[in-house]
Formats: sequence, C-alpha cells, structure tokens
Amino acid sequence: MGEVTRPGAVIAIDGPAGSGKSTAARRVAIALGLRYLDTGAMYRALTWWLLEQGIDLADTAAVLARIAEPRIEIGTDPRQPRIAVNGTDVAGPIRDRRVSNSVSTVAAIPEVRALLVARQREIIAATTATGTGIVAEGRDIGTVVAPDAAVKVYLTASEEVRAQRRSAELDADPAATMAAVRREQARRDERDAPQSAMAADAVDIDTSALTLDEVVDQVVAMAWSRRTVSRG
Ligand code: C5P
Repeated sequence: MGEVTRPGAVIAIDGPAGSGKSTAARRVAIALGLRYLDTGAMYRALTWWLLEQGIDLADTAAVLARIAEPRIEIGTDPRQPRIAVNGTDVAGPIRDRRVSNSVSTVAAIPEVRALLVARQREIIAATTATGTGIVAEGRDIGTVVAPDAAVKVYLTASEEVRAQRRSAELDADPAATMAAVRREQARRDERDAPQSAMAADAVDIDTSALTLDEVVDQVVAMAWSRRTVSRG
C-alpha cells in the first residue's frame, strides 16, 4: 500500500542556497508520495525573462511595469520538475550564473513577492484541495507562503560547505570557481536576508556533516511523527 496524505498537508522547507534544500525537498516529496513546489524557480523564471527583455534590473520602476507580463508555468511533479515562461522550457537557463547573480535583486521588490506568493498559495491550495500534500521549498514558505504548514524545516550548512556544493555544480577551474562562488554567495545571502527569516516553529537542521539520505530521513521522520501523512 502506498502512503495516503492527509488533506491539506504542507511541508515547508526553507534555507539558503547550497543548504541542499532543493534535492532534499524533491526526495522527501518522492518518498512520501507528495507534490513538490520549487518557489525559487519562479523568482528565477521571472528574472530570466526580465533579462531576456533587456530590462535594467536596478531600475525598479521599469521592472514593475513588466512583471505581470510573462506567463510563468510551474509543474509540481517531484520526479520531473517543469518550469516554462510563455510556453518556453526554461529549466536550464534559469540556473545560469547570470540569473543566479541577479535573482535576489528582483526578489527583494515587495510587489514581485506579492505577485509570486499569491501564485504559490494558489498552487498549494489547488493541490491540497485534491487531498494531496505538497512539499514547498524556498526562503519564506514557513513564514509567509504557508505559515500553517504541518512541518517546517529550515536547512542550513556552513558557508564553506555551501560554497563547495555550489562550485561542484559548476564546470570550471575549481580554485577560481570556489573563490567566485563564495563572493557571489555572500552577496546573495545579504540581499536575501530580509526574506529568509526562520519561522519560530521551524526545526533547524544543519546539513554540513549530513548525507542527503540522512537529511531526507530526518524530514520524513518528522512528517510521520506529526501525522502529516499516514500509511494507506
Ligand atoms: O532557491 P533558489 O536559490 O533557487 O532561489 C533563487 C532566489 O530566489 C533566492 O536567492 C532568492 O532571492 C529568491 N527566492 C525568494 N523567496 C523564495 C524562493 C527564492 O526570495 N521563496
């Protein structure tokens, strides 16, 4: 028998870049038979589109004039995360360094957050309304997007471990990459800080010395113990 999710079950996984939250969130969703929402991909997709339009991201008025234009579609299958803008698959391009280094500027604009948070709540509500739970991943899920989430996890890792994980994903000279990644990471952390507070009722997991399996096991165990999901 598979797992039967209790209606309305939301698992919030927040944390900074390199904390391992994307892979962990996806794996938790697969393990528990839940859907999956990568909210960072939505901020990235919007940023990618603004850059494609040649809009100066430092010009907030110019950004605001266009944010409602692109149609951002995001899938919730944890085995096959899908993200498209106006019908174009952007799963690859939104991971480019160009986007990674610009996204927090766009994400810091309150109107951008209001727009995407509303969309994220709609996706979560539409999913839970069908009786299926969802693992939502980002920076503000436990505080803003889904403050009533049944399970809230905040993943962290040391600055060094996070930079190592990020540079391992990039295909370049390791030494140069590591130095650049640390600089870029520090800049992104600083800009993301205002919207990255840990929820008071979140459980903080330091993943620095943990394997991915160990992180996934901990979150899955929390979901079971809180009766978020029950065996069918
Ligand atoms: O999670 P990821 O690193 O892909 O997120 C990219 C960026 O999107 C973050 O650096 C942050 O600026 C923004 N973001 C956000 N709120 C979220 C998810 C992502 O502001 N819930």
